[in-house]
Amino acid sequence: MSAHAQIPPESNLSASCEDCLVCISPARGVVASMNELRAPLHDIATSTGIAVKEIEKHLSACVLAPDPANDGTTVVSDQELTALIDHAVETFHTATLQNNLVASTAALSVRLRGLAEKSRRAQARSEQKTDFENADPRRPDTWPPSLRKFVQVFCDGLIEQATEHKVSGRKSRAKGQVSA
Ligand SMILES: [Zn+2]
Repeated sequence: MSAHAQIPPESNLSASCEDCLVCISPARGVVASMNELRAPLHDIATSTGIAVKEIEKHLSACVLAPDPANDGTTVVSDQELTALIDHAVETFHTATLQNNLVASTAALSVRLRGLAEKSRRAQARSEQKTDFENADPRRPDTWPPSLRKFVQVFCDGLIEQATEHKVSGRKSRAKGQVSA
């Protein structure tokens, strides 16, 4: 196994790959796009002039595989978000090299939004963690907003149930008195 294949999936595309012909090729963006559009390897090879074997190696070693846990209905996973950002970087460079200002600006904007979403997730995670760590069950003022909302809805439900129970109890008692 080459050192290349041992790069963990977290390391992004830019971390590769002196021994990958696709990574050092100007057609790298084309390979990424065609692969994303599920073009057959043979077609990618024909379009780029790179051997099928090399493209196969690149796709398995350098490109993040789509997250199998995501069936397309759930929120974009962190892994997919990372892949999207990598792809935007690639598109940005390809477009810049081709002097395509519109495409490079669009790719840059996708990258920025991707990075913003990533940092938003990281911040939400750390806030949630510390919030719950500091919450005292006997002191609602220490609860994070999400927990407060949860408890409020839960209590409203209980009160609603209890009120319905009381009302229907009264009604049935009233009925009983009328019929008696
Ligand atoms: Zn590669």
